[in-house]
Amino acid sequence: MASAGEVVWVLGIVAWYIIRYPFERRAKRTRVVSDQRSLSDTVALMAALFGMAILPIFYLVTGIPQAADRPASLWSVALGAVVFIAALWMFRRSHKELGRYWSITLEIRERHKLICDGPYAFVRHPMYTSFLLMGLGQAFLLPNWVAGLAGLAGFAVLFFARVGKEERMMLESFGEQYRDYMGRTKRLIPYLY
Ligand code: SAH
Repeated sequence: MASAGEVVWVLGIVAWYIIRYPFERRAKRTRVVSDQRSLSDTVALMAALFGMAILPIFYLVTGIPQAADRPASLWSVALGAVVFIAALWMFRRSHKELGRYWSITLEIRERHKLICDGPYAFVRHPMYTSFLLMGLGQAFLLPNWVAGLAGLAGFAVLFFARVGKEERMMLESFGEQYRDYMGRTKRLIPYLY
């Protein structure tokens, strides 16, 4: 039988997709003027998808790798649920703020404006912050070391493969404006990093 943590994780993933779907549709209608998509970015996206969805779903269905199971505890499920809810809230806030400029990869859209409000006033990559929180939530919710920690590993691959390129692209497009913005914000965690 599925543990409580596993049920919470599945509900969280469903909620994640419900939040994402309308933005994906809207963004597709906005023309792209510069596409920085690359093979390495696609591979990094796959790694994130693998760690945050495919591997944990495989674990939920098959129970493999059983040798990596750990005891489920109430405090870990409760903490995981709180962190996952925070992740979903942050995910929704950053999508709303980014609006039609959202992209699954690195692109500059028609009449692209720099967003510095809402969660973007505190960190430059709140959507990636929400992925970090989701990965943490997954680690607390799934009582298996491999399936649990795969999310954080996938996130790390995507984040480090992308963040430097994304900031270079933003600097090229927005120049001084982005440089100032970088001066007053951190990447992922307010005041820290
Ligand atoms: N890294 C951001 C956005 C992820 S979506 C975050 O974590 O919240 C990726 C797209 O967002 C990129 O194609 C880029 O064009 C756009 N983008 C990133 N930061 C932006 C900002 N501050 N204002 C407007 N668009 C931004």
